[in-house]
Amino acid sequence: MTTNPVATRSGERTYDVAIVGGGIMGAATAYYLAKAGVSVGLFEKGRVGGEQSSRNWGAVRQQQRDRAELPMMIESVRLWTGLEEELGTSLDWNHQGHIALVYDEQTGSRYEQWLPVAREFGLDTTMLTSKEVHDLLPHYRDPECTGALFTPSDGCAEPEKVTCAFARAAVLKGAEILELTSVSSIETQNGNACALWTEQGRIRANTILVTSGAWTSRLLKPLGVSHPSLWIRGNVVRTNVLPIELRKLLAWGKTSYRQRSDGRVNIAAASVAFHDLTVPDSFRYGAKFLPVAKDHWGSFRFSIGRHAVRSLMGEFSDFTTHRTLDPRPEWKVLKQAAALFAREYPEAGPITLERAWGGFIDYMPDELPVLGEVPGYAGLFMAAGFSGHGFGLGPVIGRVMADLVRGNPVGHDLTPFSPKRFSKGFRAKEREHA
Ligand SMILES: Cc1cc2nc3c(=O)[nH]c(=O)nc-3n(C[C@H](O)[C@H](O)[C@H](O)COP(=O)(O)OP(=O)(O)OC[C@H]3O[C@@H](n4cnc5c(N)ncnc54)[C@H](O)[C@@H]3O)c2cc1C
Repeated sequence: MTTNPVATRSGERTYDVAIVGGGIMGAATAYYLAKAGVSVGLFEKGRVGGEQSSRNWGAVRQQQRDRAELPMMIESVRLWTGLEEELGTSLDWNHQGHIALVYDEQTGSRYEQWLPVAREFGLDTTMLTSKEVHDLLPHYRDPECTGALFTPSDGCAEPEKVTCAFARAAVLKGAEILELTSVSSIETQNGNACALWTEQGRIRANTILVTSGAWTSRLLKPLGVSHPSLWIRGNVVRTNVLPIELRKLLAWGKTSYRQRSDGRVNIAAASVAFHDLTVPDSFRYGAKFLPVAKDHWGSFRFSIGRHAVRSLMGEFSDFTTHRTLDPRPEWKVLKQAAALFAREYPEAGPITLERAWGGFIDYMPDELPVLGEVPGYAGLFMAAGFSGHGFGLGPVIGRVMADLVRGNPVGHDLTPFSPKRFSKGFRAKEREHA
C-alpha cells in the first residue's frame, strides 16, 4: 500500500489534505478526495484497516439507529449498493437485511417502539412472527423465538476487504498512503492546523483530518481537545466451513452471527462487552459514561488487569508501541456464543472454532460520532468515536468529510455530531515546533 510521495523543494512533502489513520473513515475520505482531484496523503501507524475496520461484524444497519444518524445511514446504504462497481472489486456485499430476534415480550415491545421511526424515515422495517422468522432462516431452530424486527434493505459486507479496497482505489486516483508511519503530533500556527509530525518527518498540509479511531483522544489531548472516548472490547470467533447455507445477513439474538461468502460463520459474543480499565482515561471519562452504562448494565464486564498495567507503564501514549491494537479475545464467552449458535442450527453439525479476535471500539458517552472542524483550530477536522457502528457509515462518512473539508455543502445536519459538545470549554493551545 505504501507509495513514495515526491518531496517538495524544501524537502517537506505537502498535501491539500493530510489524513491521520487508515481505517474505513480515513481510507474512504482519501478515496472521495482523490476522486475529486484533491492532493491527499494518508498516514497509518500500522496497516490499512488493521484495527476496528477489519475486526467488526460487517453489519450495514439502518435498523435501530439513532435518528440523528439515519439520514446519513440511508445515504450510506445507497452508496454500498454501488460500491463494488465504484471500487472495482468484490466486497462480499449482501443486501439481504438485518434481523433482531425476539425471545421475550419486553424485547418485542422495545423493538415495536422503533417501527414509527422506521416509517418516518421511509424504511421497510417490519415485525415478523416466529413462523416468518423460520421461513426466512430455514435452518434456524429455536422454539423460544417469538418473532423478530427485520429490515430487508439493510445489508452486510466483508470488513477484511472494504477498507483496503477504498485505499487501493484512492491510490489509483492519486492519493498517497503511507503505512507504518505514525503521526506523533499535529502542529498549529495562530490557531491554524498546518503540519503533521510523522515517523517520516514533518508533513505540511492545508487541512488535516483526524480519523484515528481508538487513538483519537491521545492524539488530540496535547491540543487541549477533549474527546472522552473509552475502549470497549468486542470479541468474534470464526467457524469452519459449514455444510448449510444461511441467509446472508447479520442476525442479532442470543448470539450474533453472519455467514461469510466462503461458508464460514463469524459469531460474536453479542450480549457482553468488556471495558478493560486504562489509566487515566477510565477515571478521567468514566463519570460521563454512567447514563449509557446504566442502559447496558447487564452486558458490561469490567476488567482491571493487563491493560491497566500497560497503560500505567505508558504503553498507550505512544503511537509506535502498538502498530495494530490486537486485544486478546475472550474465549470463554466466545465458546458459549458458539454453543448457542450450534443449538440454533443443529444441521450445521460439529463446529470447529478456527480463529478468534478482539477489537477495541472507540465508544462515546452519547454513542454518537464526532464529526466536524475542531473548535479553536481552523483547518483541523475530525471523524471519530463511532461507538461500535461506524462500518456501515464508512462510505457516507468518506463522502461527507471529503465535502466538508473542501467547504462544500454536505447535505446532512451535522449539528448532533459537533466536536463542540465535548470541547466547549477549552482554549486552543498552540502546538508549534521549532
Ligand atoms: C468487534 C467489533 C464489531 C463491530 N461491528 C460493527 C458492525 O457490525 N457494524 C458497524 O457498522 N460497525 C461495527 N463496529 C464498529 C466499526 O468497526 C468502527 O466504527 C469503524 O471501523 C471505525 O473506523 P475508523 O476508521 O474510525 O477507525 P479504525 O478502523 O480503528 O481506524 C483507525 C486507524 O487509525 C490508525 N491510527 C491511530 N492513531 C494513529 C496515529 N497517531 N498515526 C497514524 N495512524 C494512527 C490506527 O492504526 C487505525 O488503523 C465494530 C467494531 C468492533 C471492534
